[in-house]
Parts: sequence; C-alpha cells; structure tokens
Amino acid sequence: MEKLQVKDKTFAISIPEAEIQKQVRRVAAEIVRDLEGKHPLFLPVLNGAFIFAADLLREVNIPCEVSFIKLASYQGTQSTGEIREVIGLQADITGRHIVIVEDIIDSGLTMAHMLETLQAHNPASISVCALLVKPGALKVEIPIHYKCMEIPNDFIVGYGLDYDGDGRNTRDIYTLVKDPELFSE
Ligand code: 5GP
Ligand code: MG
Repeated sequence: MEKLQVKDKTFAISIPEAEIQKQVRRVAAEIVRDLEGKHPLFLPVLNGAFIFAADLLREVNIPCEVSFIKLASYQGTQSTGEIREVIGLQADITGRHIVIVEDIIDSGLTMAHMLETLQAHNPASISVCALLVKPGALKVEIPIHYKCMEIPNDFIVGYGLDYDGDGRNTRDIYTLVKDPELFSE
C-alpha cells in the first residue's frame, strides 16, 4: 500500500483520487439540480477546501459566484476558550443562495458557528457542502446538504488537508498510521 511521510507522521492511502473525483462529480450534479437558476454564491473555507472547491466548481456548470472565507482562531480572554471568527466575507450575501464549501466536518462546532455568523446577514438560503464528514465525531446537529464521503474518526491529510501545514498537495487522501512499526508495504 502507498504511504506518505508528513514531518514525523506516517500516513497510508485511504481514498484514491478516482474515488474522490467520482464523489465530487456526484455532489456537483446534486448542486446543479438544486441551485440552477438561483445564481448561487459559493463560499469555500480556506485553507483546507481550496483543492476540493477547485474540482467541485469546475463541475458546477451553471452561472454562479465564488468568494473565499477564512476562520481566524484566537484564544478568548474569557473562559470560553478558542474563538473562531469568519473573515474575508466581501460579497454581500443578503438575499443570496449560499453554499459553504468545507473540507471536513469533525465535531461540527466550526460549521455551527459559521452558520450562525452567516445567517445574521439574512441570505435567501444556506447549504453546507462538505468533502468529508466524521459522523462518529459530531457533537452538534448541523444540516449537511451535500456530502462527498463519510470517514471514521481518524486523522487524515491530503487533497487540501494538512498536518501541521504540510501534506495538502496530494491527489489522494491519506489516513494516519497509528503504529508505523506495524506498517507493511
Ligand atoms: P470541527 O469544528 O468540525 O471539529 O473541525 C473542523 C476542522 O478541523 C476542519 O475544517 C479541519 O480544519 C480540522 N480537522 C478535523 N478533522 C481533521 C482531519 O482528520 N485532518 C485534518 N487535516 N484536519 C481536520
Ligand atoms: Mg477546514
């Protein structure tokens, strides 16, 4: 099996490029079916969603707009811990049909916060489009309208997703090997 070394960690291929592309095309067709004629505004979340968004949007062959957003994390001064603020929202989303394009939904807390923030701008609708979802890790209920694939509670890299900043530039998706000593080629 193909493996990937990212800094001090070993990863093994878990979702090959062909499978990713197949699921991306399926989801793109669902989006076209639902949003054709609505001139949707896609909001990919940087950095992780950049490759997914590039592939997805080339399959969404209807008039639409794209504007990237980012989450800025900082430690709150209160006991609330980490605060994640949505930055870079340049387009006026009021009355628009929004599609948030996210790499992976784990606990769902990030997406819940994002939905709350964007909802305050009164868009016509908001859909969530995720490349990956870890159903076993979800801590809050969030609507996930478009989902390419579900994965177990493992740490993955590749196809836009990083480990400590590295590993985003692969065509396949890789899963962390917990015990590399037991890894066989
Ligand atoms: P959540 O708020 O849903 O727990 O966290 C979502 C964010 O955590 C994702 O946007 C991503 O940045 C990061 N994340 C969650 N699981 C993974 C994973 O398996 N690999 C990588 N690289 N990032 C992950
Ligand atoms: Mg992300």
